Amino acid sequence: MKARPQPPARNRLSPEQVDALNAEAFELRMSDTPRALQLAQQAHDQALAIDPPRGLAYALLRWSLCEFILGLPVAPLQARLDQAHSLLEALGEVPGHLDALNLQALIQERLGSYEQALLLHQRALELARLHRLARAEARALSNMAVTRMTLGQLPEALELLQHSLSLAEQSGSIVDQAYALGQLGQVLQGIGEMELAAEHLQRSLRCARQTQDLARQATSALDLGALLSKLSQHAEARLHLDEALTLSRRTGNVNDLGQALLGLGQSCLRQGDMGAARAAFEEARPLAERAGDIPTLCSIELGLADMWNAGDELDQAQSALARALAQATNSRLSALASQAHRALSELAEQRGEHALALQHYKAHHACEQRLLGEHSQQRLRGLFARQQAQALSQELQAARQADQEKQALLTQLSAQADLLRQLSHEDGLTGLANRRWLDLLLEQEFERAARFRHPLSLAMLDLDHFKAVNDRFGHKVGDAVLRQVGRLLRDHCRRADVVARYGGEEFTLLLVETPLPLASQLCDKLRQQVERFDWRSLHPDLHAITVSMGLAGNAEAHEPEALCALADGRLYSAKNEGRNCVRPPPSPMPT
Ligand code: GH3
Ligand code: MG
Ligand code: MG
Repeated sequence: MKARPQPPARNRLSPEQVDALNAEAFELRMSDTPRALQLAQQAHDQALAIDPPRGLAYALLRWSLCEFILGLPVAPLQARLDQAHSLLEALGEVPGHLDALNLQALIQERLGSYEQALLLHQRALELARLHRLARAEARALSNMAVTRMTLGQLPEALELLQHSLSLAEQSGSIVDQAYALGQLGQVLQGIGEMELAAEHLQRSLRCARQTQDLARQATSALDLGALLSKLSQHAEARLHLDEALTLSRRTGNVNDLGQALLGLGQSCLRQGDMGAARAAFEEARPLAERAGDIPTLCSIELGLADMWNAGDELDQAQSALARALAQATNSRLSALASQAHRALSELAEQRGEHALALQHYKAHHACEQRLLGEHSQQRLRGLFARQQAQALSQELQAARQADQEKQALLTQLSAQADLLRQLSHEDGLTGLANRRWLDLLLEQEFERAARFRHPLSLAMLDLDHFKAVNDRFGHKVGDAVLRQVGRLLRDHCRRADVVARYGGEEFTLLLVETPLPLASQLCDKLRQQVERFDWRSLHPDLHAITVSMGLAGNAEAHEPEALCALADGRLYSAKNEGRNCVRPPPSPMPT
């Protein structure tokens, strides 16, 4: 390490001022990394003269973190980090110690030593548990999940993230929820649950936007953009990718910037804009190289190969795929190696090189097996044993059939995804609160209202003759109606009110601090909103949708269940009295 000039004695700062510099460096690490680096260096120079060396330890830690984010060479920053690590451990500075472990793990990942990274994350997890730091535990779990994900170990990652998300929710940390949700989105995408993945990424982005963490915002926007692009929702995808680009240009994080450009390139490629795709890939490549981001480098090559292939430049495509394969194999990135083998197999087939095609297909298949566990290894072995006896083309056919086993494993994984849906708070169709979340909130609000003697009203709402809508227009239109009703309710209630999908075509409104007469007026307004909405915008022959509602107040009930039962009974009356109305009626009303 180069010696840095010490500040003259009269300009020396107090330990508290050094702490403040370090804190500011940490604060700015993602939003203005070069400035954060300067501050950390300044803190470092000041702290050299101060004892105890707490400020120095943090300065070294922040310094190396900023250098890491900026993609600077690993060796010098690792030396600084090691020094920081020993100081922090010796000083018993748990938060700093945790940060040091995490950064060391990230460095190992950048170097492709994933086992090493997992061990470091594991140490952070144990440290967090020892000191009962729920947020740090949530973060360690989600960091481990990221490593597992990179290694293609999706079931393990899913489990870690479920755990991490529930810890983050319990501790009320929006940032940690944004991370866990974003990573869950990635895993769900990996197991083919695209809609659920998009839902999680959207939630992640919403959480991230509530925080100062620009890097997380960038990552969530990027992942969402990349997913939407795969789903051919190009316009929306581009909006998110542009947001990711702008954010990562602002933070100066080369990793994010490289990945955002990769996403942009892939999106252009899907839309057939080869020139823009190539420009984005080529801008991304040096950034990914600088960041040592092998998965991104590899994906860039795969993207370029697709591009060459589309232009019938098979030699160029071949070289790009060979580079992708070498990178993926060296870093043991099974998912990317699998993609490269598959593309090489298709290319060889295109060229009539059937033996080579089979060889790559088998390698692709072997990667898939590794990714999805040991279950079908036996089948694969049988496949190889039969190999000599059979003609090559038949063999290729058989290998493709073995892919069906992969499907069985995917089904198993999607059962886990269902569990995840149950554990979450959102209703998948409407994005409103789900039944489980409503039950929890109702209990809390009911108790709070009773304690402070405040009014609380609850409305049950049911769509009229909805079965006929499904029967006549199909479930897809039925679903769109449910989504739109959800939107109308959400848009016309106050933020503090809880709007939930109770189940099927029934919704519940929990109107806090609202006495019955007021609730009754609000419900009638909502009823009219639904009635007046232009339903033909969903289907030309869909003329009218109406709803019936039953309403009850907490003055009439001693417990949440009784409140629901009262509202439900009145909903039943509303149906019997001709539908498209609110019971009790809007006015006049006794309180
Ligand atoms: P009523 O006015 O008495 O409430 O009549 P209804 O037809 O609305 O009531 P019924 O309980 O007979 O039927 C409810 C229908 O709601 C049946 C079911 O097909 C439909 N439904 C429930 N959940 C969903 C859903 O998630 N999507 C769609 N498209 N339809 C749903
Ligand atoms: Mg119903
Ligand atoms: Mg109904």
